[in-house]
Amino acid sequence: VAPIHIIGAGLAGSEAAWQIASHGVSVVLHEMRPIKSTDAHITDHCAELVCSNSFRSDDAEANAVGVLHQEMREANSLIMACADKNTVPAGGALAVAREAFSETVTKALHDHPLITIERGEIDELPSADNGSCLVATGPLTSEPLSKSILAATGEDALAFFDAIAPIIYFDSIDMDRAWFQSRYDKKGPGGTGADYINCAMNEEEYKAFIAAMLEADKTEFKEWEKAKYFDGCLPIEVMAERGIDTPRFGPMKPVGLTNPHDPETDPYAVVQLRQDNKLGTLFNIVGFQTKMKYGAQSDVFRMIPGLENAQFARLGGIHRNTFLNSPKLLDDTLRLKSHPHLRFAGQITGCEGYVESAAIGLLTGRFLAAEALGHAAVPPPETTAFGALLGHITGGHLIDSNGGRRSFQPMNVNFGLFPPVEFSKRREDGSKMRGVEKQLSKKKALAKRALGDTRAWLEEISIAAQET
Ligand code: FAD
Repeated sequence: VAPIHIIGAGLAGSEAAWQIASHGVSVVLHEMRPIKSTDAHITDHCAELVCSNSFRSDDAEANAVGVLHQEMREANSLIMACADKNTVPAGGALAVAREAFSETVTKALHDHPLITIERGEIDELPSADNGSCLVATGPLTSEPLSKSILAATGEDALAFFDAIAPIIYFDSIDMDRAWFQSRYDKKGPGGTGADYINCAMNEEEYKAFIAAMLEADKTEFKEWEKAKYFDGCLPIEVMAERGIDTPRFGPMKPVGLTNPHDPETDPYAVVQLRQDNKLGTLFNIVGFQTKMKYGAQSDVFRMIPGLENAQFARLGGIHRNTFLNSPKLLDDTLRLKSHPHLRFAGQITGCEGYVESAAIGLLTGRFLAAEALGHAAVPPPETTAFGALLGHITGGHLIDSNGGRRSFQPMNVNFGLFPPVEFSKRREDGSKMRGVEKQLSKKKALAKRALGDTRAWLEEISIAAQET
């Protein structure tokens, strides 16, 4: 079997190389460091952690990233094995000794007889003559390779900055205050005329809200992040700095909408939320990309009428981040539709975070190994954390029914990406659960189903491999 080439020995590329080699297929892992580095990496180790040393919650019973940890462990993840070997105390989180972690990953890859690590920048996508190739070059993909990806995929296929508006769980929005309606009841492609959730503000609420945004702590841009990426994705607080009424003439304009809870009063400003995933469990606040610090964001956004008890699936942000318009470009096993000898993995596909990047590396590694050995690449069920994340990447975007704009943005794994589940809403004594307790019961049911379905999937692909 010809070796599989992987470009980038980060979280995704390292995990993919391990999975492929563990299935008996040889790998050449190309990493440009230390010959050329990125603005964030400082070592030549594989799977270097560029910022925090945390893999976030390790709770596999009721936390989505904890479930993903466990699914990865059960799928023989190198990243999780090395993390587990190098933990540092961090409460319920899985945090690692940064240097020791990436040294352990590097050694395991280096010592594997089927893995060759080649140092040097790859500056263009390889042709099909070189066999299968996995591109896992991350959010800071080098410029020549980015250009080559753009040439293969088209102009609007690759973004260089994310512009993330906060995303909220639908079931935490107070629909006794908010309402569904599209401006002027407009029906775009696939729209119903009531696609947006609207939250009305009176003058006093609006002024207090703008003042809170202006006062909130903001994250400073790093020197290398300062670029011309404000066009079209101006942070909402920067818009407010330009004039108290600027947001009211922008994303908060109160036109074309009637509040059914108070039809006699014209709203002074309206915040709109747009559906963010196919399931309709998540909604983003339209036009609210922000550099406000996380703590400040939840306080400020809970001032919006109807969002007083909002639970955030993710908070807003703007970062340097190279990522593909994956739902359009990649198939369900992450092959580039136009050039199927190329696969993508890690943050460049539009997942977010160390764990998620490694998880997508794990899946692509398994898909590649299966194909090299003559089997089909079988995606995990959508009920698993693996499948929920994959579903976000390959189909999670929605077209804005008012304008047909593309709305795909990177995302961490979270329970809003999982299909609904049956769960117990009553305590053992028969009384009704409420609030947090009910939410916990739902999370536990989602986690249990995910782990059961992951085991069944792993079993299914291992039996299929033995049969062929
Ligand atoms: P990477 O881990 O970045 O790996 C990509 C690799 O490809 C790198 O080693 C790079 O040197 C190499 N490469 C790039 N171009 C080429 C080329 N042309 N040829 C050969 N090699 C190449 N996530 C978190 O969970 N927690 C955090 O705290 C966090 N902080 C972040 C801070 C910054 C500044 C950035 C940019 C991202 C951060 N992330 C964080 C997000 C993300 O999860 C990590 O960037 C993660 O490392 C992504 O994994 P990856 O494998 O996709 O890419």
